[in-house]
Amino acid sequence: MTLHEPTTPQFKQNAHEALRDENLQSALRGARNGFVGKRAAARAKLGEDEFDGLRDAARDLKNHVLANLADYLEAYEGKVTAAGGHVHWAETAEDAQNIVLDICRKAGAKTVNKGKTMISEECGINDHLAANGIKPVETDLGEYIIQLRGETPSHIIAPAVHVTVPQVREEFQKAHTHLPESRDLSGLDTLLSEARGVLREKYFQAEVGITGANMLIAETGQSVIVTNEGNGDLSQSLPRVHIVMASIEKIVPTLEDSSTILRVLGRSATGQDMSVYTTYSSGPRRAEDPDGPEEYHVVLLDNGRTNMLGTEFEEMLRCIRCGACMNHCPVYQTVGGHAYGWVYPGPMGAVLTPSLIGVEEGGHLPNASTFCGRCEDVCPMRIPLPKMMRHWREREFEKKLTPGAARYGLGLWAFFAKRPGLYRAGTRLGMAALRLLGRGRGRVSSLPLAGGWTATRDMPVPSGDTFMAQWKAKR
Ligand code: SF4
Repeated sequence: MTLHEPTTPQFKQNAHEALRDENLQSALRGARNGFVGKRAAARAKLGEDEFDGLRDAARDLKNHVLANLADYLEAYEGKVTAAGGHVHWAETAEDAQNIVLDICRKAGAKTVNKGKTMISEECGINDHLAANGIKPVETDLGEYIIQLRGETPSHIIAPAVHVTVPQVREEFQKAHTHLPESRDLSGLDTLLSEARGVLREKYFQAEVGITGANMLIAETGQSVIVTNEGNGDLSQSLPRVHIVMASIEKIVPTLEDSSTILRVLGRSATGQDMSVYTTYSSGPRRAEDPDGPEEYHVVLLDNGRTNMLGTEFEEMLRCIRCGACMNHCPVYQTVGGHAYGWVYPGPMGAVLTPSLIGVEEGGHLPNASTFCGRCEDVCPMRIPLPKMMRHWREREFEKKLTPGAARYGLGLWAFFAKRPGLYRAGTRLGMAALRLLGRGRGRVSSLPLAGGWTATRDMPVPSGDTFMAQWKAKR
């Protein structure tokens, strides 16, 4: 049992609440254009041809990995072991929880520092450690803020994007009671330096550091982590034990390949040529090393990913968690990440979440899309997200999970679509009925069976003749 149960099945209710939340709406308005403009500028600066060529190379590279996943994972494990590290295979989130807890207990840990890791969110590591008397401390600033608020991340690269500056100030005043009440917290710089000061102390208290990995390199057995704050480096090099948590598809064949991914990652995520810190870790400290952990563990999580191989959802495993799809998604921009109710929000979550927790739980997410296609346009790994959301809608329909009205509506449409004469007569009748309902105003403000649509906007009444009639007239 975790503190943060998925609320994905209540997506509709979550979305309604998000729309009513003024603080959230203000934070989302503030973030809306930042990422989009920065990515566009970074793409233009590199040159669109080179950027798009890199995307093709990154896609091909990951497709090759997925076709040979077992071989690369085996090679990776061999290299880690040879360097003195340990690889642990976790089939489920519970397995990962138990492995991490076991390592922490053996290390005698009371406090664990964490660099940002979405896999630990997926496995509910914080709650599991806390329930077993070990205190997890998030060291990424955004993660630290949401940890103070008792929340989960609402974005995969900007976990506190839903929090406004006044809310951060309030949290710091509540949490940092050891500091003078009258201190100046008026500016972003003062908030930042206070967080830095508080977190610096924590780095030296933890016995174990947990980080994620943006990549794992089969050729060298290294794990790669990128951050903009350097917290990943400190979380992994100061404690006595370092645990890397990563999912199995994070593997790339060679060092050279990792640079291809890095070149699209920073630009797609934050519009940076590269993230500020890129750290390659190669096992525990060697005799000649001045610092570094004494123990190095990698927890490799499957949690349903091998079931995606060979299916229409395999391409989702190319995802490098850059967040570009959610930054450009009109639905994400309107309701924020928490409405999605689990670890992965936005378009990538709409495909990945049903794969991991089942379409019965996550079926609303692929429906929460306008199919505008912006997510696919900006995805550095060229993942066909709308196509895969359509596959989920098909599965939902086949499993009879789609609401009755939609099912009957589709059945009715299919009946007519298979009978062109009837279809044409029906569209003519439908148009006449809509015109009648429009009463000469050119729009309908309330339409039976489409109340959700007309509740917030008017439906334009068709003008002119049907498409088929116009087509016939022109030939
Ligand atoms: S689906 Fe594409 S755009 Fe979205 S996070 Fe993954 S790699 Fe980035």
